[in-house]
Amino acid sequence: MIDLHSHTWFSDGLLSPHELMRRAAELGIRHLAITDHDSIAAHRDVPVHDIPPGMQLITGVEVSTLWDNREIHIVGLFIDIDDTPLNDLLQRQQNKRRQRALDIGLKLEKAGITGLGDYLATLPCEAISRNHVADFLIAGGHASSKQQAFSKHLGKRGRYHSQADWCSISEAVTAIRAANGIAVVAHPDRYKLNRVKLRRLLTEFTEAGGDALEVSYSNLHPDKMNNLADLCCELDMWASVGSDFHTPHTTWMDLGRIRKLPAHCEERALWLHPRWRPEDQQQPAD
Ligand code: AMP
Ligand code: MN
Ligand code: MN
Ligand code: MN
Repeated sequence: MIDLHSHTWFSDGLLSPHELMRRAAELGIRHLAITDHDSIAAHRDVPVHDIPPGMQLITGVEVSTLWDNREIHIVGLFIDIDDTPLNDLLQRQQNKRRQRALDIGLKLEKAGITGLGDYLATLPCEAISRNHVADFLIAGGHASSKQQAFSKHLGKRGRYHSQADWCSISEAVTAIRAANGIAVVAHPDRYKLNRVKLRRLLTEFTEAGGDALEVSYSNLHPDKMNNLADLCCELDMWASVGSDFHTPHTTWMDLGRIRKLPAHCEERALWLHPRWRPEDQQQPAD
């Protein structure tokens, strides 16, 4: 099995890279990409001998971008983690994350909720996420669930919302491509775009040098997956698959919990991409 989208505790995932790889191996994942938000710290943290036997660990990252006033996530796979311009971009993104956390902390303080900074300082993450802020709000009794923390407090219409000035799609794609990576639009149905806008987004993405579209991922209705596969064919893109795993507690987003690609876009599967590492050119056993 293949899973090309997952998170560790270096961003908003629960597990360490070691634990994540163990879980993936137990679930039969042979090709795993770790794609933390704006961070490649996990890939620096993993010694080669720690990768489970028979597993291919793929270097990856998930970059937050702004497009048409919306946050669009671009996954980079097979990136060279020593590439300087990519590291510089991620550093700027990390700074924006820290700045946004401070801004949210101030808004919370004005409402009498203190301690966000201290809470964040206890976490092992490099990339501070609103997901962490949501945990803080839930622990303090200010929200009853993640969903509510986002809709009421942290989302666009939330009371403590703070918009980070993320890089553009074209900056993200350019940096990923320059680091020898493959650029992928993550979870396209989560942006609430109509078909016309989604097509415009994907057209701009491919014109900027973007390669692929996540066609199969957690929690995606088969009809929607088929529509995405149609778009993928129409726009001549590669098709990626990934669970967006964060924690074992959300069982519906567990590693590998994704449908097979629809037959009509199987030949566009990312593992057939010329930049998939040569030793893995053969169709991986499922
Ligand atoms: P950030 O990267 O700081 O913008 O935070 C976004 C992260 O929060 C996403 O990657 C998800 O893991 C999580 N997230 C976003 N919206 C929701 C939601 N409505 N419910 C639960 N988690 C969410
Ligand atoms: Mn996340
Ligand atoms: Mn995402
Ligand atoms: Mn993700």
